[in-house]
Amino acid sequence: MRAEGRVVITNPTGLHARPAVKLAQLAAGFDADIEIRAGEEGEWVRARSTARVMKLKAGAQSIIHFRAEGDQADDALSALIDFVRRDFDEGPAAAAPEAIERPGETALGRASGLGMATEQAPGERAVSVVDDASGECAFPVAGEASAGHTVSAVVASPGLAIGVLHMPAEPRGPARRAGDPSAEQAALDRAVARSLAGLRGLVDEAGELARGVIGFQISLLQDEEFLEPVRIEIEAGVAANQAWVHHLAGEIADYESAPTAYLRERAADLRDLCERVAMAFTGDTLRYSLPDQCVVIADELTPSRFLELDRSRATGVATYSGSPANHAAMLARAYGVPMLVQLACDPGDLAEGTEAVLDADRGCLVLAPPPSVRERYTRRIEEQRAREREALQHVSRPARTREGTPIRVLVNIDDPSLLASFDPSHCDGIGLTRTELLFQGAAGLPGEETQLRCYRQLVAWARGRPVTVRTLDAGGDKPIPGLTLEGESNPFLGLRGVRLSLSRPEVFVTQLRALARAAAGGELKVMLPMVTKPGELDEVRRLLAGEVQALRAAGIEAAMPRLGMMVEVPAAALTIESFDADFFSIGTNDLTQYVLAAGRDSPAVADLLDPLHPAVLELIARVADACAGTGREVSVCGEMAAQPECLRALLDAGIRVVSVPPAALASTKASVAAL
Ligand code: PEP
Ligand code: MG
Repeated sequence: MRAEGRVVITNPTGLHARPAVKLAQLAAGFDADIEIRAGEEGEWVRARSTARVMKLKAGAQSIIHFRAEGDQADDALSALIDFVRRDFDEGPAAAAPEAIERPGETALGRASGLGMATEQAPGERAVSVVDDASGECAFPVAGEASAGHTVSAVVASPGLAIGVLHMPAEPRGPARRAGDPSAEQAALDRAVARSLAGLRGLVDEAGELARGVIGFQISLLQDEEFLEPVRIEIEAGVAANQAWVHHLAGEIADYESAPTAYLRERAADLRDLCERVAMAFTGDTLRYSLPDQCVVIADELTPSRFLELDRSRATGVATYSGSPANHAAMLARAYGVPMLVQLACDPGDLAEGTEAVLDADRGCLVLAPPPSVRERYTRRIEEQRAREREALQHVSRPARTREGTPIRVLVNIDDPSLLASFDPSHCDGIGLTRTELLFQGAAGLPGEETQLRCYRQLVAWARGRPVTVRTLDAGGDKPIPGLTLEGESNPFLGLRGVRLSLSRPEVFVTQLRALARAAAGGELKVMLPMVTKPGELDEVRRLLAGEVQALRAAGIEAAMPRLGMMVEVPAAALTIESFDADFFSIGTNDLTQYVLAAGRDSPAVADLLDPLHPAVLELIARVADACAGTGREVSVCGEMAAQPECLRALLDAGIRVVSVPPAALASTKASVAAL
């Protein structure tokens, strides 16, 4: 039996490493010879080979073709095409590495609410470094890495560490003499088996995040097509380890010259694999014996070398090369290990055993810190640890004040990929999704299907908890070229939020349809931004109901979601009783700027922008009062909900539901418990 088919890749990050592994595994499960190619002109390769599939380098929107021959050709083809259409089952919890590794936003610490205040965003080089006298950052001294000096670097994983510098020796495969080809093939098999065992051990130990990285390497080692060029060289008389290193060098060079950053980053994974197998020829492992309390310095740390670091001894990591977007950095963030990359000094400038402070909040390495500087850092580290310990105790528990008042704590989602490293059971749902951020990519406005996929992913992630999706809130400080008006003299008072949506029905209706369709599959609520008068809400309700009806008439599943509104405009707060909303969420960021006539984007009036101003608190209390006893929920989703000093005032105003950034979840719960 023969079958052929083709499908467009809709996964925004294309057929990257994890989908390639999954696709090859899926193909291997059928009794059929299956081949795949990218585009009309591409070369046909075997679909069960991860290495081959990965090398198609098929990006989003490219067309891939399948052909299959064998008893299960038909079944295989439909399963594979379905799998591609399901975006390789890459939900938010399995977002592509480049999507989830946005520097500084995916650290376990941040996702679980343990985020430390970072003065330098990951990915930026420090512009100031430590002043010996004050213990604070002063000026960079790149290249002058002597005592008391600092070396600037780029933050890959935030945090602070103190320790002695340690440079582990680079593992090298020993020179082997080529033996009999069959003995060399057996040596290759042993090295591969040993490496596979080591990698599997790491997966068990390392958990979800590492599984993606290591899974790719395991899959390559299990792929005979990947090993074939090595075997051919061995047959030609080359020593097994040399053949291995030679083959990998070619693969690494190929990935290094790949067109996308994502594929280029995979070169580091291959270098890692190359090194691991090379070491396995001698039976050596990469398990380092580290000095106690050390800062590990390396040229570039590969993922498995990172995982093998004894993290009870390594307080921090710094590398000369590397980037905040590579997998080692991603793992460092996930494990909360402070990490710097791109140290601005020569390897010869750093000496083994030198005491150092790794400041991955500011982006510098302080060498041989004077006692006063060391003391300050020790204090800061202790304070951070105390905050983390305190917050951690609360993250998995329902929030409750000391007197026992339950407070529901939901999360604000700006980037759905953040959910990948975040446990939904730690929150009471999603209180705000800023969908305008979906609309800001270079690819233009997303269509109904793309939006639907995104909303469904949120619903799936929340596992029955409510998901509040705010309709497009473009305008103000969030202009979208081609959509928002240009040249408004005061965009915050202009055509923004629901006003803009109602003026662009073709854009708005697409979003409403996607929302109505997603609402058919779970607890999705729709929220409107910047509502000023009841007529706006009524108009949207009419539009939404019309779309639900039209979808159903066309045989497409849809449901009328609960429709709520943000309370951000003082007029709405003052006339709240006249709005026919199913729920309210107070947007204190905007409400404060409008009440106090102080622009949220103007540092010159930042002092005025106080959400604890009695006028703001009075409006909040007014809205809470109006909803009390009506069964209509009122929450606060502005930044003040995440500020511990504001919580008491919110409770006093009658607020019992807040929605905060994921990074603030644990600290908010801890603050509630302390009230
Ligand atoms: C607000 O205004 O408080 C709010 C949550 O919305 P945004 O910050 O997106 O304007
Ligand atoms: Mg707002």
